[in-house]
This record gives sequence, structure tokens and C-alpha cells, in this order.
Amino acid sequence: MYHFPTFDLYLYKDMKCNFHTHTTRCRHATGTEREYIEKAIEAGYQILGFSDHSPYLFEEGHVSPYRMKLEELEGYIKTVDNLKQEYKKDIQIFTGLELEFLPKYFEKTFHEIEQYSLDYLILGQHYLDEECPEDGAGYEWRDEERLKTYIDRVIEAIDTGYFLYVAHPDIINYVGDEATYKKHMKRLVTEFKKHNMPIEINVNGCRERRIYPNKYFIELGIENGNDFIVGVDAHSPQDLTDRDTYQECLNLVPEVIMWTGERQIK
Ligand SMILES: [Zn+2]
Ligand SMILES: [Zn+2]
Repeated sequence: MYHFPTFDLYLYKDMKCNFHTHTTRCRHATGTEREYIEKAIEAGYQILGFSDHSPYLFEEGHVSPYRMKLEELEGYIKTVDNLKQEYKKDIQIFTGLELEFLPKYFEKTFHEIEQYSLDYLILGQHYLDEECPEDGAGYEWRDEERLKTYIDRVIEAIDTGYFLYVAHPDIINYVGDEATYKKHMKRLVTEFKKHNMPIEINVNGCRERRIYPNKYFIELGIENGNDFIVGVDAHSPQDLTDRDTYQECLNLVPEVIMWTGERQIK
């Protein structure tokens, strides 16, 4: 039986937090866990959550190039747990995973993961059904049905209760009209509010000038009175000390960002 999240996110709303951190195990990040922790301390974080890309049990033969393997999960958790103890005087560390909700494989994947001692999961819905480019959220989607299906899927994932929050909820590269985009994204901000989940503003997307954070989406959240959290989505230890991009993210939502330890909260 799953046991996460092991904490209430809102307990830490006045502290400087980052719950979105990767490690080399996902094959597209650099630096050791220790280096991430040292940089987080240097940057003044009081809470650091590791959320590397979870293993996923795809069909036999498909090995994901973007995630740790199942056999690496135990080592990941042990490494973070040991550092958690070692650094406990300086920073509070949580062990998590970034995971997608792909219905065809989710149940068997989740069944494996829930057996480990994790603190939390964040949903990172990079794909719709399969790990292939056409199903990627970054693929140019013009079709409303696809946007609708994607948002339905994220909502279904949130409704499981397994996830602390949603990473880059605005990752979808919808290239149709703005009214259709807003119609479906409005459903998402409403869902977040219902579940008391903040909207992540993703620092990595901002630094790399990706389509997220999406200003239209953020506006919807502001209008709807949602809470916001900054997720560094660190793929190298230096990402944690990139103050300029962090500030750029804060500027997108003046006055209402929690979990920064520095802003006035609502
Ligand atoms: Zn992600
Ligand atoms: Zn990530």
C-alpha cells in the first residue's frame, strides 16, 4: 500500500524549498547527489526534494533513455537516505520521483514503486500514451481532442491521490487557438485548486526558453486564485544557484509565490 506523500507541502510554505531535482541516474543530468545538496545549501534552500525520473515498466524490449532503470531505484533511495542523515543539520531532504501516468503501464509500474520507501511523487506527464515523439507533450498538437485527452489524463492522475504536485503543468505544446487552449487549461487550474496543489513554475523551462512556463496558463492560475511553487527542475548542481532565472520565474507571479522563503505570501 502506498504511503506517500509523507508530508504536507503547506507545512513548508514559509521556507525556501525545491522539490524538483534530478540526478545522473536519468541519463540526461550531471552531478552527484552530494553536489546538488551542497549547491542547495549554498543557495539557501532549507528543503531539497530529489525527484529523479522514475523507472517505467514499458513493454519488454523498450528501455527508456530518459529514466533510471528499475534496478537502480534501490541505490538511488539508499544514496539519498544516507545523505538525508548526513546533512540533516543543514537541510531537510526528501526522496521522491517524477513519474508519468501512462494508463497501459501505470499499474504495474506503480506496484513496483510503492514497495520502496519514498516520500513523494510528482507527476511529469511528458507523454500521452507511449514514450515516442508523436505522443510527446512537446510535439505540436493542433487537435483539440488531443489537448482534451492530455488534460483528462493529468486530471485522472491527480485524482489518484498519489502525487504531491504536477511538474511543468504547462509543458503541452498546443498550437491551436488561444480560446481552446484556455478552455482546457482552465479545467486544470480548477482541478489544482480543488486538490490544494500549487502550480509549478519551472525554472529549467524558463532558462532554456522552452514553451513553458506559459504566460497564458499562469494568468489563468492568477485569475483563479491558485497558489504557485517554483520548481528548479535541476539537471545540474549549478541550476540550484542560478538566481537570475529563479528571479525571472518569481517575477511572473508577483506577491503570490509560496515556498520561496522570501516572498510575502497570500
Ligand atoms: Zn519533467
Ligand atoms: Zn524534471
